[in-house]
Amino acid sequence: GARREERDWVWFNSLTTTAVDQRLTLWQDIQVALEENQFFLAFQPIYNLSSNQPVSAEVLLRWRHPQQGLISPAVFIPFAEQTGLVKRIDLWVLNAVARQLRQWSKQGLSMPRLALNLSGISFLRPDFELMLNNAFSEDFALLKHLEFELTEGVLIEDMERIQDRIDSIRQLGVQIAIDDFGTGYSSLSRIRNLAIDHIKIDRSFIDDIESSPQSCKIIEAILHLAHGLRLKVVAEGVETEAQLHELRQMGCDLVQGYLLSRPLERADYEALLNEDLEI
Ligand code: C2E
Ligand code: CA
Ligand code: CA
Ligand code: CA
Repeated sequence: GARREERDWVWFNSLTTTAVDQRLTLWQDIQVALEENQFFLAFQPIYNLSSNQPVSAEVLLRWRHPQQGLISPAVFIPFAEQTGLVKRIDLWVLNAVARQLRQWSKQGLSMPRLALNLSGISFLRPDFELMLNNAFSEDFALLKHLEFELTEGVLIEDMERIQDRIDSIRQLGVQIAIDDFGTGYSSLSRIRNLAIDHIKIDRSFIDDIESSPQSCKIIEAILHLAHGLRLKVVAEGVETEAQLHELRQMGCDLVQGYLLSRPLERADYEALLNEDLEI
């Protein structure tokens, strides 16, 4: 289960001595990982709280390093963002997701939407739409099964530029979510002019539901304002029945977390789609 995945994570411990050497090793290892397909995708279902059905899944990147074992994206994504390597990683993920959707479509599987994490630099690069077109050139209709999760960090950029990009991407049928909401710069006033689809409330607020009335008040305020803007709200990191119960009471739309399902490897996710499990 979830515990097992956490236990398997290793921190990046190279045998070299200095921090510079370690960073160089990590940089080289990421290049190799991209070339030799050491990355793979995990899928964590997202459930609709009215239908109790899984309606989409977040795509989470996994790296099986030949010597180090499973390395968490929490370790290598921040490094990749600092060094610009994240553009290559995001492109790899985009192509892998397109390939996966094509395969499921050929197999006739009912396909929920896939939400993938995209760094701000990838989303705002001038050739991003070209990358998207290339990845989906075999079947543009599959773009309707795609969603991008952008963190609030992207919102500190020029709003007009972000708005133009979001508008042109959404015209293709792709949905947009703002991830980790409540932790960074963005506020609802800042996003009110953006045509987005979902807000994902950061896990830290969900963690505190049982212990902090203030966290509950913040969640309620986010729900109220988001619904006023016709946005759907996802609560991430739901781990307990009590949290799920509270979120239901508060009128949250969608939930994701270890209580419902941990991130699954492809075969397990496909099995879950066939089971049509309710919560
Ligand atoms: P995130 O986008 O906020 O993803 C949610 C994280 O919470 C994931 O960690 C997920 O496994 C974890 N999680 C889900 N449910 C629960 C729960 O109930 N409890 C707890 N404690 N954790 C839960 P993960 O997979 O380690 O990913 C970490 C971060 O790495 C992500 O945070 C995202 O920022 C980044 N990331 C992951 N995959 C990609 C990717 O393909 N591209 C990019 N650019 N970033 C990625
Ligand atoms: Ca995310
Ligand atoms: Ca998040
Ligand atoms: Ca995060």
